[in-house]
Parts: sequence; structure tokens; C-alpha cells
Amino acid sequence: METFFYCQSCDSKITIDQLALLNEGKCPSCGSIEGFSSVPKNEGDPFETVTVINDAELLEKSFEEGNQ
Ligand SMILES: [Zn+2]
Repeated sequence: METFFYCQSCDSKITIDQLALLNEGKCPSCGSIEGFSSVPKNEGDPFETVTVINDAELLEKSFEEGNQ
């Protein structure tokens, strides 16, 4: 399984191999040096989603979907 990293500036996806080859950590897409995260910046905080859902069934459903 491949691990991807996401630019914290433009959210473009790169592989760990590409990350290792980056020139001074600059994003190949936008040239930003903000860095990369294994989570897309627009994905949001999963705990934030949980607090929004109050219904127990919905919570269970979202938990199952998260495990797929
Ligand atoms: Zn970028």
C-alpha cells in the first residue's frame, strides 16, 4: 500500500518517493515550502465530525464507513 502526502498549500498529492526527492521540500506543483501532511488539509478533523452527530445509529454508521 502506497502512502501519499498532501501539500499544505495547494493540497496536491505526492508519493513518499517524490517527497524524498523534493528540492528543499518545495512542492513540485506550487513551489510552496509549507510542507506536506499524510492527511489532506481539506479533510477536516474527524473528532469534529463525531461531535456534530448526536444520533447513535448515525455515529455507528459513520464509524463503519470510516473503517472501509
Ligand atoms: Zn503545493
